[in-house]
Amino acid sequence: MVLNCAVCGSQFANKRCYFCESKICSSCISPADVTGGYTIKCVNCDRRMVNKISLLSVIRRNKIIIAILFGFWIFTVYPIPFLQMLGYNIPATAFHPILITTAIMIIPFIFMFIAWQRRGT
Ligand SMILES: [Zn+2]
Ligand SMILES: [Zn+2]
Repeated sequence: MVLNCAVCGSQFANKRCYFCESKICSSCISPADVTGGYTIKCVNCDRRMVNKISLLSVIRRNKIIIAILFGFWIFTVYPIPFLQMLGYNIPATAFHPILITTAIMIIPFIFMFIAWQRRGT
């Protein structure tokens, strides 16, 4: 399978743009990224001034990590439905600290998403 460079059509497309995910050759990498940084950016994205990927593609690329974190998070933050299933009777006021904890726990997630958007894999 021959993958041509998405920018110039060269057959030596051995790199992949981190931002648009298209196959590119080493001569079509943005010159700014050759000197510093380890994310690969194609000249097309450089021209369009793309400097971060969309939140949707962050989720798509890290869906396994997110699924594991989310599953673990549900168990630790929302144990009440599970406890009720086991026969414990928990009053509604017990939900208030959980809601506060949830809000606090979301903050590092937001920072994580921002970091993922800007950094290479
Ligand atoms: Zn090329
Ligand atoms: Zn690109």
